[in-house]
Amino acid sequence: MAFLDQHPGLGYPAAAALGLLLGSFLNVVILRLPKRLEWQWKRDAREILELPDIYEPPPPGIVVEPSHCPHCKHKLSWYENIPLFSWIIQGGKCRHCKAPISVQYPLVEALTSLLVLACVWQWGFGWQGFGAIVLTCFLVALSGIDLRTQLLPDQLTLPLMWLGLIGSIDNLYMPAKPALVGAAAGYLLLWSVWWLFKQLTGKEGMGHGDFKLLAALGAWCGLKGILPIVLLSSVVGAIVGSLWLYSRGRDRATPIPFGPYLAIAGWLVFMWGEPLINAYLHSVGMR
Ligand SMILES: [Zn+2]
Repeated sequence: MAFLDQHPGLGYPAAAALGLLLGSFLNVVILRLPKRLEWQWKRDAREILELPDIYEPPPPGIVVEPSHCPHCKHKLSWYENIPLFSWIIQGGKCRHCKAPISVQYPLVEALTSLLVLACVWQWGFGWQGFGAIVLTCFLVALSGIDLRTQLLPDQLTLPLMWLGLIGSIDNLYMPAKPALVGAAAGYLLLWSVWWLFKQLTGKEGMGHGDFKLLAALGAWCGLKGILPIVLLSSVVGAIVGSLWLYSRGRDRATPIPFGPYLAIAGWLVFMWGEPLINAYLHSVGMR
């Protein structure tokens, strides 16, 4: 690690390559984890309702099963499975059946690579940089899954919160106290909004995954990060959401996933919280 810190000419290309590989893995998580969960939930539901057990083959696992073309099921060889580059060289098509391959794959790979570069640029090649990459991967997976399925699985939000809290034991980014209070405050804040909204309108305005995601971000950004995250995500959400609804021409009751906005805001506050807050205070004339 110290070696990479002293040789950034090696460190940054290595980080970019690592980001592409991680992005390739995150694509698999985004596509397969919700299907696995749904399969499990259906099985549990049948058991609770005491319905006869129907055998349904499990969808592919995340780690073990190799990648294949979703159209012709052709198994990808190593040179068809190089992140980003294979997609570009093959012109976004399967080499065998010429079916188009979703642009999600190269997008997630390129995005993860850029975000990982930003992590090591901001936090260096030590444990802080490593932690930042872990946080980034969880946030990319959660955003992708929320956009596709409007779910923020506990299987990702809860471990992310625990990792932030565990990191704070050894003062990775902050002492344990602000991390713990941040996690609790993050959960309570959105829970209160949800509860009030439900009392006033009788509707569920927000998913429980949103509370857990903000709790996780509180564990990583601390108590002082909570308000900036909520403000920033609301602003970004309002702008992107209204543009999206306008372009789709849907009515306002359409549920819009809030998770990606929380994730973007949380990542920005984690990376550049102090300068962001200072710039804001300065712009409104408070500094
Ligand atoms: Zn194919």
